[in-house]
Amino acid sequence: TAAIIDGKAIAKDIRAELKEEIEALKQSGITPGLAVVIVGDDQASHTYVNSKEKSSKEIGIYSEVHRYPADYSEEKLLQKVEELNNDDRIHGILVQLPLPKHISEDKVIDAIAPEKDVDGFHPVNVGKMVIGKDSFFSCTPYGIIKMLEKENISLEGKHVVVIGRSNIVGKPAALLSLMHNATVTICHSRTKDLPAITRQADVVIAAVGIANYVTADHIKPGAVVIDVGINRNDAGKLCGDVDFNNVKEVAGAITPVPGGVGPMTITMLLFNTVKSAKAKAAKIK
Ligand code: NAD
Repeated sequence: TAAIIDGKAIAKDIRAELKEEIEALKQSGITPGLAVVIVGDDQASHTYVNSKEKSSKEIGIYSEVHRYPADYSEEKLLQKVEELNNDDRIHGILVQLPLPKHISEDKVIDAIAPEKDVDGFHPVNVGKMVIGKDSFFSCTPYGIIKMLEKENISLEGKHVVVIGRSNIVGKPAALLSLMHNATVTICHSRTKDLPAITRQADVVIAAVGIANYVTADHIKPGAVVIDVGINRNDAGKLCGDVDFNNVKEVAGAITPVPGGVGPMTITMLLFNTVKSAKAKAAKIK
C-alpha cells in the first residue's frame, strides 16, 4: 500500500523554519506584515481568514484583517487596496475570494501591487511564472511542489497529469510542474477517456471538486497521487477528489484529505509573506 504523505507534519516543519527567519528579520528591524481583506459574510471564507490570521500570528507575522459588509463598494475596496500598497508595515496583501457580485475580482486583483501579491493571482506574477521566472506562486500548487520536494519526490522527466484547469490550482500546478522539468498533461471537464490518460501518469494531481472522482482504475501502480479536492461526502464528512481507501492500494504515495495539501496552502501564504519581507529588506540594505 501507498506511503501516506503527511502534509500536516511537512507544514509544521516549514512553519518552524519560517519562524526562525522571521526572528532574524526582526533583529534587522523588519517585521513581516500581512493584510487580509474580506468582504461579505460567506462563512467558509471567514473561517479561512481567521485561520490565516491565527497562523500568521503564531509564527510572528504582523497581521491585520479588514472585514467589510457585503454591500461595501468596489471603489472603497480599491481605495483600501491602494492604502495597503503604500503601507510600509504590510508586505503581503490578500483579498479573500469570492467577492460579492457587484465587485469585479479582476479589478481588485489588478490593483494589488505585484510585489505584495502573496496569493500570486496578479497577472504580472502569473505571467512571470509562465515565462519561468521567480515570482509569487499561487499557494495551493506551490504547496504541492514544496511537499514533493520535502518528500524527495523529483518531478524531473516524470509525467505529471493535472486534473482541473482553474487559475487558482490546475493551471499553476501544471506550470510549476513544467518549471521542475516534468512532462505535463492538463485534463479538464471536456477531456475524453480521462482514465486512459491518468493511467500513464507518474504523478496525478487531482483538483476537480468531486468526491471520489479518481478511482483505483485511474492510477498506474506505484504512482504518486496528490489530492487537492475539498468536498463533503454523503455522510457530510470532509473528503478529497480521490477514492482514498481503494487508490492507496495501488498508488506508491498519496496525500490524505484532510491533512495533505490543505495545511500546505496557508503555509505557503506565510512563506510568500516572509519572501516579500526579505525582498524588501534586501532593497533597503
Ligand atoms: P474549479 O471548480 O475552479 O475547477 C475545477 C476544475 O475541474 C475545472 O477546471 C474543470 O474543468 C475540472 N473538471 C470538472 N469536472 C470534471 C470532470 N468530470 N473531469 C475532469 N475534470 C473536471 O475548482 P478549483 O478552485 O480548482 O478547486 C478544485 C478543488 O480543490 C475543489 O474541491 C476545491 O475546494 C479544492 N481546493 C483546495 C484547496 C486546498 O487548499 N486544499 C485550495 C483550492 C481549492
